[in-house]
Amino acid sequence: MDGIETDIPGAPHDHDACVSAALETAAELCRRQGSRLTPVRRQVLEIVWESHRPVKAYDVLARLSDHGRAAKPPTVYRALGFLIDQGLIHRIEGLNAFIGCARPNDAHTGYFLICERCRAVTEMASPRLETLLGQEAAGLGFTVKAQTVEIFGLCAACGGGR
Ligand SMILES: [Zn+2]
Ligand SMILES: [Zn+2]
Ligand SMILES: [Zn+2]
Repeated sequence: MDGIETDIPGAPHDHDACVSAALETAAELCRRQGSRLTPVRRQVLEIVWESHRPVKAYDVLARLSDHGRAAKPPTVYRALGFLIDQGLIHRIEGLNAFIGCARPNDAHTGYFLICERCRAVTEMASPRLETLLGQEAAGLGFTVKAQTVEIFGLCAACGGGR
């Protein structure tokens, strides 16, 4: 746990700290992996991290031109693809949108808690769940290679839980 993640979905916090930590982690991770965090890739990552809500590719495109960078869709898709490959962002299939990963340095399975009201997404880590799913699948003769679980509901701020 590196402190980027908020524990409670929707809880108020210093989000600038999230963004700068994410950008710092990304720069360091790319350096280590020998990949290049080019200015456009970095800017796309920053846009994805603007909030804890998933961002669609066309929103990224629009935000880039707000920043005075006239990017073309393929540029944005390539940058998003790069960030996914590096484990810096995740794709939420159910929303066709992207969310920053708070712990790109750890190999992990994404369990995404998605608030249907405010759209906040929290990435939940659950090694227990991962093991259990693997075991259940193995019982059916299936070898799990990757898991992405998208769970829809209400976050604490929107009246979920308790
Ligand atoms: Zn934040
Ligand atoms: Zn992640
Ligand atoms: Zn919510």
